[in-house]
Parts: sequence; C-alpha cells; structure tokens
Amino acid sequence: MRNPRRTAVLTAALLVTGVLAATPAAAAPAPSSAYATGWGGAVVSDTVEATQAGIAVLRRGGTAADAAVAVGAVLNVTDPMMTGIGGGGYWVHYDARTRKVSTIDGRETAPRAADQNLFIDPATGQPYPFDQAVTSGRSVGTPGVLATWERALDKWGRFDLDELLQPAIRVADRGFPLTPTLRGQIASNEARFRQFDSTAELFLPGGAVPEVGTIMRNPDLADTFREIARHGTRSFYGGPIARDTAAAVQNPPLADDATITPPKGLLSTRDFKDYRTIDRKPTHVSYRGYDVYGMAPSSSGGMTVGMALNSLERFNLGSMPRDAALHHYLEASKLAYADRNRYIGDPAFVDVPQRELLKESYGRARACLIDPIRVLPAPAAPGNPHGPNVCTPPPPGAATPEPEVHTTHFVVSDARGNVVSFTNTIEMVGGSGIVVPDRGFLLNNELTDFNFTPTQGNAPDPNLPAAGKRPRSSMTPTIVLRDGKPFLAVGSPGGSTIITTVLQILVNRIDFGMPLTEAVAAPRASQRNSPTTVAEPAFIAAAAPLTARGHVFTPQTEIGAAAALEFTKHGQIHAVGEPVRRGTTHAAVVFPHP
Ligand code: GLU
Repeated sequence: MRNPRRTAVLTAALLVTGVLAATPAAAAPAPSSAYATGWGGAVVSDTVEATQAGIAVLRRGGTAADAAVAVGAVLNVTDPMMTGIGGGGYWVHYDARTRKVSTIDGRETAPRAADQNLFIDPATGQPYPFDQAVTSGRSVGTPGVLATWERALDKWGRFDLDELLQPAIRVADRGFPLTPTLRGQIASNEARFRQFDSTAELFLPGGAVPEVGTIMRNPDLADTFREIARHGTRSFYGGPIARDTAAAVQNPPLADDATITPPKGLLSTRDFKDYRTIDRKPTHVSYRGYDVYGMAPSSSGGMTVGMALNSLERFNLGSMPRDAALHHYLEASKLAYADRNRYIGDPAFVDVPQRELLKESYGRARACLIDPIRVLPAPAAPGNPHGPNVCTPPPPGAATPEPEVHTTHFVVSDARGNVVSFTNTIEMVGGSGIVVPDRGFLLNNELTDFNFTPTQGNAPDPNLPAAGKRPRSSMTPTIVLRDGKPFLAVGSPGGSTIITTVLQILVNRIDFGMPLTEAVAAPRASQRNSPTTVAEPAFIAAAAPLTARGHVFTPQTEIGAAAALEFTKHGQIHAVGEPVRRGTTHAAVVFPHP
C-alpha cells in the first residue's frame, strides 16, 4: 500500500526541483510538520520550501553539505529576515568517512577602516545609541555565508554551487506564500524598512505590509544567485556584487522622507577581497559518556556550553528533584557566562585561554561555587583559568547587557551518515534594514555584537571592535557523538540565549531522559549572569520552587527556535523542529517511517 505521507513528501520534493510544477499536484498544500522520523537523511529548517529543497537534493544523491547549501540559499528567499548571503554563520560538520567533526568559521569581519571607536560618535565622544547603530551601514560586517557554502562544498560536496542555487532561484522567481511568521517579522520592522527605498520596495510592496498568503517574489535575488551561479563567488567577493554592496553600506539608499541619520558605513570592496572563512578545530568536552563538539571562538557558543557541562557533570542531575536540577542548570550557566564575557573574543586578536577554561578541573572548581539551596548573586565574577583550580567564593562581577535578537539554525544529514549543524544570521530580525539595491538581499548588522565600550572594569574586554576582527558570537551549532557516531545535532537562534537553549536541550535529553521532541518543546529559561533569568511563561508558571531559592524571572514569550536531529543505534533519524515557536518549523526525512 502506498504511504500517503511519503507520497506527500516526494511530491513536495519534486515540486521544488521543478518536475511537477505544471501538474495539479503543484496546487496541493505542502506538508508541514515539526517532527519526522525515518531513514536516508533528514532536514530541519525554518521554512517548508527550504526543507523540501534539502530533501530533494538528498534524494538526488547529494551529501549533507550539498543539501545544506540548497537549504541555506532557499532560506535567503523564504526566511530573509534571519539569514542570507548578506550575513555570516558557523558550520559544524561530521564526516562519516573520517569520523571527524570539523567546523568552518564564516563570521563577518569588521572593515579595515574600523578601530576600537567604531561605535563612538566623534561629535559627542559617546557611543551611538544602540537603536541608531543597528539601522546603519556602520553595523555591517563583511558577509561570510557565501564563502562558507563554497568552503563546505569544496570539502564535502558532490554538486557544484550553481546547481545548488537553482531551487532558491526557482522559489525567488515563482514566489512563495507569505506566512504569518514572516509577515509578523516584516510588520515589526515596518518603520525601519520605510527608511530605505530598496527595502520598502521588496518587503512593503505598494507601501504596506503584505497580507498573509501574498505571493512573495524576489527577482533581484534570483538574478543575484544567477550571477553567482554563472561567475562563481568571485562576483560577490571581488566583482559587481561587492561594489554594489560596499556602495549600499557607505551610502545607504535612504528614502526621501527618511527620519534617521545613520552613522556612515566603512565597508569597502577591499574588505570583500580580503574575506576568508577559517577552518577551526571544534571545541570538545565529554559529558556523561557523550562527546560534545561545538564552535570554537570567534563564537562563544561551544566554549560556554562546554564550561557549563563540565560544571554540571559534578552533579547527578537525573536523580535530583527537577527544580533542584534546574537550579543547577541556571547556576552553571551563570558562571559560564561570567567567563565567556571576560575571556572570549576573536582569537586572532585576544588570547583566549581555551584549553584552560575547558579543563575538567576548572569546571569542577567553578561547580563548587554553586550553592544547592540559594541562588548566587549576579553578576558573578569570572574565574581565573590560569590559577590553581580551587573553590573561592566569587566577588561581584560585571554585567554585559545583550539583547536577544535573531537568526536561524538548521540541521541536515545524509544517507552516508554525514551531518551538518549550521547556524547562520544577519544578526537582528531584518539585519541592518538595508537591502542592497537591485540585489534583493538584506545586509547584516553583526558588528553590533561587539561591545561598544569596555565592559570588564579594570580587566581587558575581549570583544571591542578592531579592523578585520570578528565580533564575538553566541551561535552554538553542536554535534554530539556516542561511541564515535552521531547521536545529536542541535542548535538554535536567539542571540545570547542561543547558548542556554542548546545547553537546556542537552540537559533535557541527556540528564532528564526526555525524548528529543519534548527536550526541544519544553519551556525554556536563560540565565546569562544577570540578576534576573529570562524565561518563557510556561517555565515561570512551574517555577515556584526556584523562586523560593531566590531566582527572579523576567517573562519572554519565546526563547529560540531549535532544530535538532537524533540518530538511533539502529540508524533511524528523529528530525525535530519547533511545534509552536516561530510559528512551527519544518522537519522531513528522505524515507519516512510508515
Ligand atoms: N548575532 C548573534 C550572534 O552571533 C546571532 C544573531 C542573534 O542574535 O540571534 O550571537
């Protein structure tokens, strides 16, 4: 008997590859689900079109890397507020042949013309107000997404970039129906988008926020991708696209009735020519018999999760009452954040004590600061990774305020057992708000991830701007191995809450034994070394025992939007997205379980 679900997925896959575009099946509603299980490869991403494009590439024999590039390109069309070639990201990869995890740092870089005063207004000597900086060319770093795709395909691809851009070109040409989620993101940016002609033209057609169901086309982006398909990435990093982008950064296409005066952008075509991705060794900690691999600096994600896990391993969370275990989770996160803020920055510019911070003895010394009954005052001070690892009570530390903004994370696996965990972003929802005229993509405002002024008191701040430097990220694409084989791939958007979302999912799955679907859907709380813990309402509703320990919560409707894969010992894949957050996300497998 035919399996209707499998037929639906195949139909959708063929639709994206164009084979069925003219048949009545093309009008059928696309399957959408936050959960799928089966074999042969999987994709979890924010949008149905992107997930389908990835599955279609896998079905044609593409590797996980091939499929991930197709997914990323389609997301540029269908999830344009979160990611695209105007942004950057971090790619974590498990290679089934070598059985190794490796990573690509595709973070944006500050322009050659930048220095520590990048965000200081020369007229006042004061930092630009954050609201002014984020909607300006000044915040735009040299994008790294396209170079990351290219590097990943060089290492792990079977298909050429030009083939893998075709699904995105088709979706951009034909259009896709506007979802409530994307409409909400456009609406929340309406005032910013009106400031720039090119942005209003693309996202406010006819001068208004489009209605749900409107077919959204992006012919300029289709042409940009065609140009890249024809001439390779050099058209972006050294050719006409670089020229157009640098011009848009230096002289944003302000509307006649614009009400903002953005600080001038510094990016030049030379910055594009100089841009390089970096192959980095992943971070690694072992946690309760699992090997947890993450992204090393310039992201703080892998190290901060690693430090927190090293502390948590000292406690038997699984046998504690749940509120006691969550108390330890929040406190370990708080202490890890103190170290993150003090020590982590771009390792080309600051000496990050990576090995020392990830030592088990250091984690043990930090863990002994956790009072099982009472909350530690926050901000807590960082530890001393160079000193003897003894338990000394922390003096107060310095807080580093960080807004939660947004991004996207997706995961892909293939039939050969390769796995991709890729977090990519243009930083805020809608990035800098600047669409490159006639090019159809938004530019990032990633440089606002630098600290505008020193945050660490008398100690050096590792995250101040400098020419060519990568701003510290929180992106935490993660791959967990069990007995040397993939067990989990996970990550999330959400600014500095990304780290806690990944940590909480790992604790939910590994310590609390929740199935992955529950581990992802469970209510979240994010403690980042501040006096209050941001938490989702459902978490707060059950948090009376934590409040009794002294935790104070600030509600936030949603934290993150995770995408995860779990691989069973028998080769089955559970592909898990968000059933509710971000208006549901989209999981699919190549051969669904009947
Ligand atoms: N810019 C953020 C980071 O690199 C990611 C975007 C977000 O805030 O979600 O940490």
